[in-house]
Amino acid sequence: MGEIYVGVKFKVVYEAPESVNDPRIAELIRIGKILTDKGFCPENSGNMSFRVQKGFAITAAGSKLGELTSNDFVLVKKVDLSRKVVFCAGKVQPSSEAMMHRMIYDARDDIDVILHAHTLDLKGAVVTEKEYPYGTFEFARSAAQAVQKHDLIVLKGHGFVSVAKTVPEAYEKLALS
Ligand SMILES: [Zn+2]
Repeated sequence: MGEIYVGVKFKVVYEAPESVNDPRIAELIRIGKILTDKGFCPENSGNMSFRVQKGFAITAAGSKLGELTSNDFVLVKKVDLSRKVVFCAGKVQPSSEAMMHRMIYDARDDIDVILHAHTLDLKGAVVTEKEYPYGTFEFARSAAQAVQKHDLIVLKGHGFVSVAKTVPEAYEKLALS
């Protein structure tokens, strides 16, 4: 979507690996294929996550949403927002938008799934007012603020975020034909 890649704006601390076994992985693998087929994941973009007791599991940086395996999901155990440090289990680097996912989960106790990919053309999505550089704290904060009132938003000039309790619900909110 013409965004300038400015790199991961946080430091990653890798802790002991922990496997994530969750039925939502299979659901997200399926959704990743659909989003890719729709052309929403140019250049390996887009990321998805689900909340677990210890934090959240998110797709790895650079993973192709259309070809995900369970190894592409990283457990993010903690995010230190003030120091911009992400603590994850294992050696796989989490998506560069992990900070945004953390802030969205913090903003919405009632949701457990986040889908994010790159189309601006979604009926019914509320578009954020201001455009922020991708991967920055301000970018993540604008997303977290917008989802406080809406389950489906478009980050101006960037892409959509859909949040829900379950994977099928998050996908249904996109109202794709
Ligand atoms: Zn994005």
